[in-house]
Amino acid sequence: MKRFLVLTTLLASNLIVLPLSSAAQKQSPPEVHGIAVEHMDPSVKPGDNFYLYANGNWIRHTVIPPDRAAVNVFSRLSDLSNQRTHDVIEEIAKSNPPAGSSLRKVADLYNSYLDESAIESKGLTPLKSHLDAIAAIHDKRELAFALGKTLRADVDALNNTNFHTQNLFGLWVAPGFHDSDHYTAYLLQGGLALPDREYYLSESEHMKALRDKYQTHVANMMKLAGFSDPEARATRIIELEHAIAATHRSLAENEDIHKADNPWARAELAQNAPGLDWDEYFRGAGLGDVASYIVWQPEAFKGESALVASTPLETWKDWLAFHLVEAYASFLPKSFAEARFAFFGKELSGAQQERPRWQRGVFIVNAQLGDVVGKSYAQKYFSPEAKAQAQDMVARLIANYRKRIEALPWMNPSTKAEAEAKLSTLYVGVGYPETWQDYSNYEVKPDDIFGNMWRGNLSRYEREIARLGKNVNRKEWSMTPQTVNAVNLPLQNALNFPAAILQPPFYDPKAPLAVNYGAIGSVMGHEISHTFDTEGSTFDAKGGLRNWWTPEDLKHFDAATAALAAQYSTYKPFPDLSVNGEQTLAEDIADLAGISAAYDGFHAALDGKQPPMQDSFTGDQQFFIAFGQNWGSKTREQALRQQVLTDPHAPAQYRAETVRNVDAWYSAFDVKPGETLYLPPGERVVIW
Ligand SMILES: [Zn+2]
Repeated sequence: MKRFLVLTTLLASNLIVLPLSSAAQKQSPPEVHGIAVEHMDPSVKPGDNFYLYANGNWIRHTVIPPDRAAVNVFSRLSDLSNQRTHDVIEEIAKSNPPAGSSLRKVADLYNSYLDESAIESKGLTPLKSHLDAIAAIHDKRELAFALGKTLRADVDALNNTNFHTQNLFGLWVAPGFHDSDHYTAYLLQGGLALPDREYYLSESEHMKALRDKYQTHVANMMKLAGFSDPEARATRIIELEHAIAATHRSLAENEDIHKADNPWARAELAQNAPGLDWDEYFRGAGLGDVASYIVWQPEAFKGESALVASTPLETWKDWLAFHLVEAYASFLPKSFAEARFAFFGKELSGAQQERPRWQRGVFIVNAQLGDVVGKSYAQKYFSPEAKAQAQDMVARLIANYRKRIEALPWMNPSTKAEAEAKLSTLYVGVGYPETWQDYSNYEVKPDDIFGNMWRGNLSRYEREIARLGKNVNRKEWSMTPQTVNAVNLPLQNALNFPAAILQPPFYDPKAPLAVNYGAIGSVMGHEISHTFDTEGSTFDAKGGLRNWWTPEDLKHFDAATAALAAQYSTYKPFPDLSVNGEQTLAEDIADLAGISAAYDGFHAALDGKQPPMQDSFTGDQQFFIAFGQNWGSKTREQALRQQVLTDPHAPAQYRAETVRNVDAWYSAFDVKPGETLYLPPGERVVIW
């Protein structure tokens, strides 16, 4: 499960996530092939604040651009990837590709977003037929059909860990928990425009103030869309969302697979979750003949369905209209796009201005036609040599996991054999996929960005539901090559390392082993660890949901991971907000296991040779500093608060500081009792 990080956040329509952020500076490759000594703060003791020791000077001299919520290594590399993707798109557009071809779709989609005057001149026309359809809903039966029509494949519980949809519910099509050879329908809770239930339910002053601003925002959007009495409508919409939020599971609960394993036959939805007319809902969704679902959060389905019955029809119609306008505001005239940014950008993330339009256009193409540009991107920017070297590194790390697991004194042979089977069948994708997505069901028109987005979201949904019941392709990717990230796909027992993360500063073929293992090696180790973390350990070698642990082994594992959760829960990025160590546990395990495996991999790769010094830094010091420099970041307060509440990953500083659990870090920097990060050997958490 799980990507390596969540790239900033929720300026979202239905499916598209527009990261908040700036003018990509063209970057030149680093001249020094090693750690960035100039980013460090030598006045800080590594044992007191390792994060600042590795990144302090960079943090001091970095200013967050006004169109960004955060800057970090990932965003700098994303800028480079976006610039390159932009160049690929421009080349495609210049080549004047034939009508109907996927290349033509790229050019037309991109240009339709850039053409602001066409968007302005259309005004509200693109919305009209959709708003009219909502206005024409006469009763709860028609409401159920309309709600069904909003269902999209816009959530992803285990791969990209996206539990948020503004629609009443979300669909995820993935291998079945109990039949990993076939694609199955998972239904997830939804219905909130704000990022998480906490935004409605938290009693903190910060959240109360945000809710007041949200009220104004909702009223403003309803007014722009031409509704009378926008304030009263906004009040009712938010009351309904508040009631929905109260039925929702928290993110930490969402990540508990055992609570999610609820196979319901079609008829059971009406029995278990009465209120919504489910026949009409599924007819609207085009899922009339699907016999069963896995319902991720039964109590939310029960609660939300009951709310459909108990809440007045007019409130639901306003809720539908508002969610439609909100989801597509970025593709409507400026007044809508600006109002949306003023709240979801400025208030929720802290960014002060929108990213340049061309960058947002790149995100849209990536989201709707990502594999078309991805194919050209991979050809242009990822050499066969880079691929071979990265594959070799992953193979070494897997070999080291194997050794670590074999050597675990507490694990029974039967559990070890299952773990070994998982490692030996793990599919590792490096750079780009072996087959590319087919977008032939997606119609793109010049000068129609609203329609292009609508049809793009719908065509993705239709592609996904067409796969239900079909054989699973375990080698299918869930990220594009131009994504700066990595991912573990537990139901496929597979990893993806896209081309865009396999470059400096993460991966530099000219850098010493210490630096590559500390930087990209720990990322690779992180993803491999997800194979065995709190969630991965519940899936077997074929991706089936099955407990393959002996009770004693599981007890040991749970005790070790509980200690790590407790450690992270002590971290407080703000006086009124702590890290939730349960919510971030799987990622924290992966970080710790990742750096441990990478450290072994580094020493194995040295093959007994002495690692070269860089300046005065030993090989081990370079290894840990390179790891710490993965995490150098500056984040606005609003965005960091949102991250703590909605992200399964801990803030960057604490991810860097997991080195305090690794014995070799203490000897590398001579860390002593009394220093802030010092843990006595018995309190260091060792999992693998
Ligand atoms: Zn992860």
